[in-house]
Amino acid sequence: MQTIQVKTGSRIQFIDITSRVKEAIAQSGVRDGIGIVYVSHTTAGVTINEAADPSVVMDITFKLSQLIPHQDAYRHTEGNSDAHIKASLMGSSVHLIISGGSPVLGTWQGIFFCEFDGPRQRKVLIKVIEG
Ligand code: ZN
Repeated sequence: MQTIQVKTGSRIQFIDITSRVKEAIAQSGVRDGIGIVYVSHTTAGVTINEAADPSVVMDITFKLSQLIPHQDAYRHTEGNSDAHIKASLMGSSVHLIISGGSPVLGTWQGIFFCEFDGPRQRKVLIKVIEG
């Protein structure tokens, strides 16, 4: 298992980690298999979406914030319930098909770390399974 450190700079932020995930897969030496990218945090997630046009992830964060406001009639007293909800919507892991030592991604796809309660120092775990 490998770990990527991600330093986020604002409360809500999507960070493209595609190149770092590709590096981790290359370092694993596995040519064909499955990769799991896992975020072990309750107020952050990971998703695959368009990386070509940065407006897309801006629209995703805009709409998530509109649907799930920071302040509402939440019961959790830590004040970050919106971040927990957004993290669950994005999910805590993505699966990758690895072929020829690289993840198979569509032309426009990228892997994004999704921060919802930053800025923080975060980590992303990567497990590569040969097969
Ligand atoms: Zn909390």
